[in-house]
Parts: sequence; C-alpha cells; structure tokens
Amino acid sequence: MRAIFPLVVDLVLTNAKAYLRREIIDCCIAIENGEIIKIGKETNMPKSDEREDLGSLLVLPGLIDCHVHLRDEGKAYKEDFFSGTAAAAAGGITTVLDMPNNDPVTMSAETLQNRMRVAEKKTLVNVGFYSEFPRNSKEIRGIVDQGAVAFKIFMANQIGGANLDDDQDLKEALKEVGDTDIPVALHAEDKTMITAKEQELKQAKREDAHAFLLAHSEQTELKAIDRVLRLTEQTETQVHFCHVTIKDGLEHITEAKKAGRKVTCEATPHHLLLSNAEFERRGALLAVMPPLRADNHIEALWEGISEGQIDVLGSDHSPHTMEEKSATSIWDVKVGFPGLETTLPLLLTMVRKNRLPLEKLVELLAENPAKIFSLKGRGRLEQGSKADLVAIEFNKKFKIDSSKFHSKAKFSPYEGWEVQGKPAKTFVNGLLVMDEGEIVARAGSGKILRRDHA
Ligand SMILES: [Zn+2]
Repeated sequence: MRAIFPLVVDLVLTNAKAYLRREIIDCCIAIENGEIIKIGKETNMPKSDEREDLGSLLVLPGLIDCHVHLRDEGKAYKEDFFSGTAAAAAGGITTVLDMPNNDPVTMSAETLQNRMRVAEKKTLVNVGFYSEFPRNSKEIRGIVDQGAVAFKIFMANQIGGANLDDDQDLKEALKEVGDTDIPVALHAEDKTMITAKEQELKQAKREDAHAFLLAHSEQTELKAIDRVLRLTEQTETQVHFCHVTIKDGLEHITEAKKAGRKVTCEATPHHLLLSNAEFERRGALLAVMPPLRADNHIEALWEGISEGQIDVLGSDHSPHTMEEKSATSIWDVKVGFPGLETTLPLLLTMVRKNRLPLEKLVELLAENPAKIFSLKGRGRLEQGSKADLVAIEFNKKFKIDSSKFHSKAKFSPYEGWEVQGKPAKTFVNGLLVMDEGEIVARAGSGKILRRDHA
C-alpha cells in the first residue's frame, strides 16, 4: 500500500546525496510541517512551491551537540542565545544542549523557566537544557517537570547545590536523579585533589601551563570517575561522563558498561586533536578542563571511538572574551574555547584522513546523543523524523578563521588550520537557517526542547 501524502508540501530538496541507513543515496527529500515525509526519486515527490536544488551536496542528519555553554543572562557578554545558536547553525549543528553554569546557575524550576523564556526569543536551532543539582533535593521533581533534558554535576568546583565534599550528599543527589527518568552528566575531576595541589603550586609561585597540568592531573580525573561509579553502583541512575580524557578512566567506564550499568561517555575534538605538549608551548588559549593530555591518552581515545567505548562527541563550546583568556597567571585564565563552528569541519577532515569513518561521525554526533538524551525524532534522516539536516560541501578546503565566527568568542586553538568539508546549508525543523555561512532565519525560529515524559 502506498502512503498518502499531502498533494502540496512545504519544501522539496532535490539533488541530495543523503546519508541514509549507513549509505549515501542520490535522492530528494520532501518536508511538511517540520518533518521529513518522503525520501525518494524526484518523479515520486509531492508538489511544492518551494524547491531547493542541493546540487549534489552531502546531506547528513543535523548534528546534536550535547555539550554547549550558551551563556546569555549574566554572561551575555561572552555569548548569548542568538550568537551561540548562529554559531551552531553555521557549524551544521541543529540541536544543542545547554550547560547550567550560568549567571544565575540553572538549578531550580524557576531559573530553568526564565532561561527558556530568554532563549525562546533568540534561538535559531533546537535547544535543550541541563540543570545543576539543587540544594534541596525536593526541588528535583519540579526541575524535571519544567522540562530539563538532563542534570549536570561539576565535580571540579562547587557550582550546584550538592555538597561535593561529602560522599553521602553526592550519593543522595545521584540516587535522586536516578528516581527520575533523566540522565546525569558529570564533569569528572576531583575538587579536593585539585584545590590542594593548586594551593601548593601557588605558594611556590607557579603560574605556568605546566603547573595547571600538575593540578589537573590524570589522577584527579580517575578518582572522580571511580567515585561516581562507586556511588551509583546500587542505583538506577543513568550516568553520562563528559569529556573523558584518560586511558584508565575510559577502561573503568567500559568495565562498568560491560557489567550492565547504564553508563555512557563523551570525548571532545580538542582532546582528540591537541596535546599537553601543545598546551605547554602555546599557553593560556589552550587552557581547558580536563586539560589536554599526552599522546598515549589521545591514542586511547581514538581507539575508544573505533571500538565503540566512546558514545558521543561534544564540542564543549565555551566562549570567553579575549581578555579572560589572556590573564598572566594560568590560575586566572578562563578555561575552554569556542567549538561549535570548528567541530564538523575538523571531524570531516579526519574522515578524509581515514581516521574516522563517516558512519562513526553520524553515530557520535547525531544518533547516539538523540538516544542518550531521548530527543525523539532527531538524529536520523528517515521518513517521519524531524527535518533537521546539514548539507555539506565535502571537498571544500578552507582555513579556520575565527574572525569570521558567529560566536562572540573570536579565537580558536585551530586558527589557520587547513580543513576539508564545509557546512553549506543548515535546516532546522525544515527551515533553512544557514546558507553559505549566512544566517537567513529570524531570531526565535529555533525550538525549545522540553523533555517529553510520554
Ligand atoms: Zn563544559
């Protein structure tokens, strides 16, 4: 039996080379009400007044970046919902999940609701929200009802309400989230160890990149990973480790998965492409938490990707002002850098170098994040899914030039790198948002994603 479609649809994309079911197929895509309603030959397409010839561009499902700091509110000088989601659209990313270390910290139903209200008027892509853990665990239910996509706990410094120094308190927090059906993401670095080492180094008047590496040692990350795995042992909590950077840590996470635990993990492009030696050479701009690591760890991450131990790639887009990145003492430098506009070109370059199969890229940046964070109808190109897609000039070579970023943060650790593969058009819920680097949709055209508990 043939499916019945409307005679006239909103948009038909012709001449696409689309990534469908692990193959690249020449096809057309019909879009109605923000959804893909048909993929097939041009002769079988419904009629539409709007037709867009993609001229054989490679079409992938729009990417989902589950690790983004969009800032705004009290940190709007670094980034706001418009500039951040413009950067996402320019980078081929159609859904971002926003981290809670904002001003005010997202950690109550009220702060979350306010943040959604601010975002609603400005966003160009789909945005879901994390919440930090509230001081009073009775508030968790309200945050979940407000539509948080996940919780996030920063273990390296006190940002949310859970007392990180106390095992019992943290255990309780993790267990409480387990009683809801949403995951908890963790920045795993041990605060006590970092603080002690930092004090010691400051007393010795150390403020260089190497000192930062000593304070944020591999052991601090391993200790935090092991602690969370131990504290969630008897719980149903769905645990997601952000930016894993060390071999042992990845091994322990993999063991937990093999034991049947609900555990997933993320790696970032910078931990795959930049090393601690590079950080010591170039200094403050490359400061990030966890820090860049030695080559043996980088190799372990690449291996972890090919062996399926790493579930997602996230940019950890962390915009700051240049001033904040140029403090003299490493302890005063704000950590992180923008990543929304570099992630896809960098990874397509790795596809080209046979380091990353295209299937893996789609799995780690679309299919798996949609599964882990329950983003229904997203992450795949198929009939019935949301029409989030990116059309790519796969052969296009260009140099990364941060002065052209849509993000307010106009710097990059990859400045001047030659990459191959450029997002040319980004569609969000069927709407063309970015065309050849230009933003063509209005502020507020993106959607706020509330967790659907149906
Ligand atoms: Zn982050």
